[in-house]
Amino acid sequence: MAITSELQHTVGKTAGFSGTSLHTGEKVSLKLHPAPADHGIKFKRKDLQDEPTIDVKIDNLKTVERATTLGEGTVRVHTVEHVLAALSAMGVDNAIVEMDANEPPIGDGSAQPYVDLIKKAGLTAQEQPRKFFDVREPMHVESKTGALLVLLPDDTFRISCTQAGPNNRFAQFLSTEITPAIFEREIASARTFVYYEDVQPLMEKNLIKGGSLENAIVVRGEAVLSKEPLRFADEFVRHKILDIIGDLALVGRRIRGHVVAVKPGHAANAELARVLAREQSRRSAMSTPRAVPIGDGGLDTDEVMKILPHRYPFLMVDRVIGFEGENKITAVKSITINEPFFQGHFPGHPVMPGVMQVEAMAQVASLLLFKLAKTTSRIGYFMSADSVKFRKPVLPGDTMFIHAELTKSRGDRLAKAKCHCVVNDAVVSEGELMFTFLDK
Ligand SMILES: [Zn+2]
Repeated sequence: MAITSELQHTVGKTAGFSGTSLHTGEKVSLKLHPAPADHGIKFKRKDLQDEPTIDVKIDNLKTVERATTLGEGTVRVHTVEHVLAALSAMGVDNAIVEMDANEPPIGDGSAQPYVDLIKKAGLTAQEQPRKFFDVREPMHVESKTGALLVLLPDDTFRISCTQAGPNNRFAQFLSTEITPAIFEREIASARTFVYYEDVQPLMEKNLIKGGSLENAIVVRGEAVLSKEPLRFADEFVRHKILDIIGDLALVGRRIRGHVVAVKPGHAANAELARVLAREQSRRSAMSTPRAVPIGDGGLDTDEVMKILPHRYPFLMVDRVIGFEGENKITAVKSITINEPFFQGHFPGHPVMPGVMQVEAMAQVASLLLFKLAKTTSRIGYFMSADSVKFRKPVLPGDTMFIHAELTKSRGDRLAKAKCHCVVNDAVVSEGELMFTFLDK
């Protein structure tokens, strides 16, 4: 049996607290609810119509100025890094964070209120194993502002951080493993700190209505202003570590590796999260089965054609390799020189048109939608494609694996799928497709 710490966890029961939001200064209450295995962390805006949710993932990162903002469509949640740091470090893999505003309560500017909340709710082990990101080789990101983040292989999650203010004032260093106990004791209570010159213009524009010396330390010149004295002599670097944990929670997996951070900030942290997420999708693509089985939950060409109305030369799926749960599918298409589009695209230099790869994604996603709807009496119409990227040319002789994951479905009329195509273990194209259903 797996040891408990290798299993996913959610909160034992719903628990909440309320306070003031930093940017609007209004009252907000936040509740943590349990969620099933593989659910991940989602924010829920209780104050909006239909109570929309936002998945905690790097693709939903909108801005990183001063704080981390996530969004889907027009819905936003701001300043989420402290609650995410607490959830991640205290071992909560699955939860719904419900709020009646666009921002969590700022509390005392640290993650302590969220740690208290998680302890109040308790933790429950779930059946599924945790998902890890193991650092296999050094990775790094560097920003123009002088932030440097290096990630090295390690059996545990460690952070070694150097923080330095303007003119290297308040240079501090700390290196520590991150476990729930260490986080609670050494990191969680470290408060946000700001430089007076940075916040003064915001105060003048009234953009931080809830900001006060009760929820941030203000550094003015050599002076440190706050309501209560520093909680640690090196409180600043501890808060920087807190923010790194919160921002890396956007990877959606527990990191086994050593983060070495020099003058980190939200932008650089988010960039590292993005690099890790990209590496993770490359690895997932590589674990695609090399043999292409028939049966075993897959669909052969005949079965595919019973569902899809497309025919030669427009059928872009040879076979479905398999479904994973309710919302993932992998299919395969062998690209041969006999494809009609190679004649004109381009004579003497055959390259598969990108739009045909998007068409393949759309067909594979429709197969998934039909499986969900369990009917072929309706047809999915492809409405829009977002974030489409073509990364590598697809050539005759390539075997293209097409992956689609259903990310949203609204009622039985609209659905959204995240798709990517893989050739020789590399992602060649990707995109997010939206569908609507109509009766045939
Ligand atoms: Zn922070």
